[in-house]
Formats: sequence, C-alpha cells, structure tokens
Amino acid sequence: ANATPPLLDVRGLYKTYALPRGQKLKAVDGISLSVTHGEVLGLVGESGCGKSTLGRCLLRLTDVSAGQILFNGQDITKLPERALRPLRPHMQMVFQDSYASLNPRRRITDLLAEPLRVHPTATGQKRSSSAITARLHELMERVGLPLSALERYPHEFSGGQRQRINIARALALSPKLIVADEPVSALDVSVQAQIINLFADLQAQLGLTYVFVAHDLAVIRQISTRVAVMYLGAIMELGQTDTVLHNPAHPYTLALTQAVPQPVIGAIRPPPLRGDIPSPVSRPAGCRFHTRCPIAQPLCRAEEPALRQISTHRAVACHFPLA
Ligand code: SF4
Ligand code: MG
Repeated sequence: ANATPPLLDVRGLYKTYALPRGQKLKAVDGISLSVTHGEVLGLVGESGCGKSTLGRCLLRLTDVSAGQILFNGQDITKLPERALRPLRPHMQMVFQDSYASLNPRRRITDLLAEPLRVHPTATGQKRSSSAITARLHELMERVGLPLSALERYPHEFSGGQRQRINIARALALSPKLIVADEPVSALDVSVQAQIINLFADLQAQLGLTYVFVAHDLAVIRQISTRVAVMYLGAIMELGQTDTVLHNPAHPYTLALTQAVPQPVIGAIRPPPLRGDIPSPVSRPAGCRFHTRCPIAQPLCRAEEPALRQISTHRAVACHFPLA
C-alpha cells in the first residue's frame, strides 16, 4: 500500500463570494489536484482566474466555501485558527508585493526573529536568543544577503532584496510547503531570474514543496515540474510542464503559449485569443472558454467538459483536445 499521502490533496474546492443583488462570484469553482512532497506545481492563468485565491485557500489564509483540503493527510478544511496554529510553521506564503508582510518600522532582525519567538521548536522548546541569532545568520546566508542586512529597515532594500528577506522569513520555521503568489512579477526581468534561481536552489537543497502562482509562462517553465492552467476559477489542463507547454491539449493553453514572445517549436499555428475574459460572476454556460475558443462547436455551448485524464500525466477539460 502507498502509505505516504501527498503533501496537499485538494478535492472539489470552491471559494464563492456573495455580491450585492444575490450575485455570486465563484473565484475557485470546483478544483481538485494534489501536490506530492518535493514537487513544484505551477498555477498559471490570466489575472482574475482565481489562482491567487486558490493559493490562499490552500494555506487556509481564507475560509473555503466547499470541498476539502488535506495537508499531509490531515483535513484542514474547517480547522479553526487555533487548531491551525501548530501547522502554520509547515505552510508559508511569499507574496507579490515585497512590502506586504514586512512592517516598515521594524528592522530585518526583528521581522525574521518574530516567527522564531512565537512558534516553539518541533519538540516544543522555546528558542534561546543565541539559537535565534544563529538561525538568522543561517537564513541570511541561504538567501544571499550580508549579515549587515539584519540591522536595516525594509525600505533600505531593492525589491529583489526584499523578496530575499521575505523568502528568509518564509523559511525561518523550516516549512514543508511554500505558496508563492507571483513572487517575481513586480521585479525587473534580470532580477526575476535571480530570484527564481534562488527559489529553485532552496527547493533542491531543502526538499521544499512549492505551489508557484504566475501569469508568466516563462516563469512557470523555469520553476515548475507540473502545471495547472486555470481559467475562470477552474483547471483547463494539468500535467508535466514540458508536455503541457510544448504540446498543449487545451485551446486555452495553446493561446497562452502563443502570447509568449519566443516561438513554440512544433506548435500548431496560433489561433489568436479573441475577446476579453468573461466576468466570473456570469461565466459562460457549457465550456467556460467557449466565448474565446477558436474551435468551439455547438456541443461546447451545451455541455461543460469534465477535467479528464488523456494520458498518464495529463488531464484536460475540453471536448476536442488538441493532443
Ligand atoms: Fe474550445 Fe470546446 Fe474545448 Fe471548450 S470544449 S476549449 S469551447 S473546443
Ligand atoms: Mg493574483
């Protein structure tokens, strides 16, 4: 029997927001996926597709409306904050806005020491201040910052350096899972590559598991082993990154790959992605992509395609998959 559960197992997850006049926004609209230990799962899609909301749901930074989230085999879907607390060290988030989790009035040393003071060690011990200092030095080295950075304030750093600090903060308690929500999108392209390399190095060195949210396929290509392509709150295609991006099975994935500047070798000639993303409040009936799909058929307007396995490592939600 397979005794090790996946690190994350998500089943039929919904996150719905009630709007005025009885309308509902289904930000996450029935998502199932699992993430194994040591894997990097990319979540990609245009802005508003629900990928950030899904990321926050996975860490229970927001309540979920329906469905189930198992973390390391434990059902965390409805755990109250108090019960989540001992799990918090294992699940951390890095945000797009490098200022988001850094109090501007506190020095880096205090910002990084805080989680170490608040949470006991795995064996329930309070950390001594010398143990905390030693850990801060180790974290600075891990993320490639000088020790002198500890004495400075967040505004004294560049965006890239601040993301290094956020990564150090996320690493402080030796997490199993890091959800990174567009952690490089606000950075210059040259800095982006450095930070992605840092994420990749840390993942390899520490055996971390990432859910890596991005709208940029080039970022996903560099960091993720598998990718879930999202559209209007649902997964359109899920599989090994190389396979999905080089040989898309879903017309939406194909359209996204065409939007990337470098040519996709061997890809079918692009049918351009037409029109705007429909409102998630009134998503199209049938296939939610049909209003923009260049190969839509009558069936697509009538019936929603289920996400189904088309090969060992790939699932697609399309009546007429391209691969
Ligand atoms: Fe296009 Fe139809 Fe496939 Fe939807 S189900 S992506 S409309 S071909
Ligand atoms: Mg977002």
